[in-house]
Amino acid sequence: MPDTEEAMTDIDARALEEISDADLQREVQRRFYSRQWHALPAGEAEPKLLRPIIGIENRTAQEVFDIMSDRIRRSALIPAPQSPAPASAVTVSDARRIWFDTEFIEDGKTIELVSIGMVREDGKTYYAEVQGVDYSRADPWLHENVFPHLQGGSCLKSRDQIAAEILEFAGEKPEFWAYYADYDWVALCQLYGRMIDLPKGWPMFCRDLKQLAGDSKLPKQTGTEHHALADAMWAKEAHAALANRDDTTRDG
Ligand SMILES: [Mg+2]
Repeated sequence: MPDTEEAMTDIDARALEEISDADLQREVQRRFYSRQWHALPAGEAEPKLLRPIIGIENRTAQEVFDIMSDRIRRSALIPAPQSPAPASAVTVSDARRIWFDTEFIEDGKTIELVSIGMVREDGKTYYAEVQGVDYSRADPWLHENVFPHLQGGSCLKSRDQIAAEILEFAGEKPEFWAYYADYDWVALCQLYGRMIDLPKGWPMFCRDLKQLAGDSKLPKQTGTEHHALADAMWAKEAHAALANRDDTTRDG
């Protein structure tokens, strides 16, 4: 790790094509953590590089690096690499993948979390149900398809407790996946408040398995449908099946 002040001066003085990804990453991370990104006056260096990144407080160093790298490439000084990226490039492979599902009551204006299930890449699972939900607001479909599978007992927890437990379960750098993810994602995020209140290091978006799958046939669910944890485990399984399909397509 070079001396911090020297590194900044050095980076700013060097021709962009001479800066390695590793050097750029170190510098972006240093500025990100020291918050000097905002303090650097525009005009001292390439203005496009110094433009503030919206929501930087909630982005990981990796995301900041990707944004900055993209700006550099778009400035036409460095040609964009062809995919797949070379093995030496910085990747997000150290992000922890999490598949999750929620059950919720929604009325066209609000989404109220009822239960949430998650499964990680290492197979560990998390499941909780929210205490104090007003079930009278639920429609008949929920009464018929979801509520029979709720477990109650020790699964019932306050929203604050669930938020804290998920934070620990997800780790510092999660990558979230869900199937038809939009409502689930909002229900999860609102455990922490507003969008801007999302835990540090979390992405501000969720990856949707449905987008990845397109019209592909997915494996049939064998667990209890509309139980959030069973649904989350199916999503992980379906994702693996899709990955195998892609491998097969490439190989064959
Ligand atoms: Mg579900």
